[in-house]
Amino acid sequence: MSKKDNILIIGAGLCGSLLALRLAQRGYTVNVYESRPDLRTTDISAGRSINLALSDRGLKAMRLAGVEDKVKPLCIPMFGRLIHDIEGNTFPSNYSGRDNEYINSISRGELNGLLLTEADSYDNLTIHFNKKCNGIDIENNTARLYDYETKIETEVKGDVLFGTDGAGSSLRKSYYLERKFLFSYSQNYLTHGYKELEIPASAEKKHQISKDYLHIWPRGDYMLIALPNLDGSFTVTLFLSYEEGKYNFNNLTTEDTIKEFFATQFPDALALIPNIADEFFNNPTGALGTIKCSPWHYQNKNVLLGDSAHAIVPFYGQGMNASFEDVTVFDSIIEQYEGDWETIFKVYEKTRKADTDAIADLAIDNYYEMRDHVANPIFKEKRAIEMA
Ligand code: FAD
Repeated sequence: MSKKDNILIIGAGLCGSLLALRLAQRGYTVNVYESRPDLRTTDISAGRSINLALSDRGLKAMRLAGVEDKVKPLCIPMFGRLIHDIEGNTFPSNYSGRDNEYINSISRGELNGLLLTEADSYDNLTIHFNKKCNGIDIENNTARLYDYETKIETEVKGDVLFGTDGAGSSLRKSYYLERKFLFSYSQNYLTHGYKELEIPASAEKKHQISKDYLHIWPRGDYMLIALPNLDGSFTVTLFLSYEEGKYNFNNLTTEDTIKEFFATQFPDALALIPNIADEFFNNPTGALGTIKCSPWHYQNKNVLLGDSAHAIVPFYGQGMNASFEDVTVFDSIIEQYEGDWETIFKVYEKTRKADTDAIADLAIDNYYEMRDHVANPIFKEKRAIEMA
């Protein structure tokens, strides 16, 4: 295949924008189609989770694409976890016992925006926003794209097509629906969901609690975590059952019940979240699920990367890092087999599948252990700490 040939990428999230950048750097002609508006110019939520933990695996991918130096200023190193008990006492818990090990808190929107800007700087790459893929003909590599502005659906064709459109992937759906090969697929939701809240910056624009930690309020079958943002705020995530237990998303429906829940379970956090009830009502409750499938590709034509191939629950904070690692591994396989897409796709899945299955299972194990061992306060605290 000639590098002048056309590559289509569906989805310009974290994985898609990095993949596009890397393929453009390799000289391919790349067109990326993203259903959302451009997050650099439109005030939209960047998607699931406002900030994320970026690990060494993720940074390695940034290095590969030559953007590590630009990403690092966006990072806040978290040197360990700070556990908040129910009385409001705190105690630190290092990641490994070794000094100077840390994981980075980073804004999803800032990171995605940076990758888009880098990708945009290549003449052989074009990003098309507001274009939702409604289906893919996997035999002919054509994607049906609905334009939210013109309200017209058009068809585009690529020589090679990549599905990086996340957990609800249109390419994965086409694999399932077109039944051209034996496609194994599973999707499992947890009984817990999540909701994001905010600890705002102080009047002096400072962090109100230490920014050097990932903060955790472990409470057995529910948990609060908080990651720092550069503007002095913290993004707080509540993990809670939809319907089990004394407190759950289904019964926290009034200002009084929400305040009572936080006042009894997370009193020190409540003191820092002034608009708790408003935020609780206005912010969506997100679902948490695991997706596994195989194979990840069809012939030499199209392939899944990132969450579209292996969405995982966030209890190890590794979904984005694994998606970035997909690109690192994929790139090294291109290096070996450039021109032979079918071999590249096969070797990529063979290299990655066991690892992505393993992290998916580890993340689920942590969820169940936390949920099912609520009777033992020492155990439950230990498990919840491991989650984050
Ligand atoms: P996405 O980020 O979902 O991007 C997909 C893109 O495709 C989006 O831009 C979307 O708009 C677009 N798209 C979707 N459908 C279409 C369509 N039909 N047509 C065109 N475009 C489409 N991971 C970590 O490593 N660390 C963490 O700390 C962490 N925390 C998390 C916390 C929570 C609460 C959650 C839910 C997840 C967390 N993750 C974390 C996981 C991480 O968010 C994902 O693994 C990561 O976003 C995967 O990137 P992606 O590009 O594959 O998919």
